[in-house]
Amino acid sequence: MKKCLNCHNMVKEEDNFCRHCGIKIQGNNHYILINVLKVFVIIGWILLILLFVASFIVYK
Ligand SMILES: [Zn+2]
Repeated sequence: MKKCLNCHNMVKEEDNFCRHCGIKIQGNNHYILINVLKVFVIIGWILLILLFVASFIVYK
């Protein structure tokens, strides 16, 4: 069980919306973490490609 951030009533773990006030449950930290990791992976790849291109230009 987790707590609704809006009305502070208890809601079920699998519920996406609060049964008491109807607000969307924001407490799913796994999805936020996955999205943050995805952004970091994309930024990492961009930096790696930029470094690769930069090293080609420098050592030509
Ligand atoms: Zn609520």
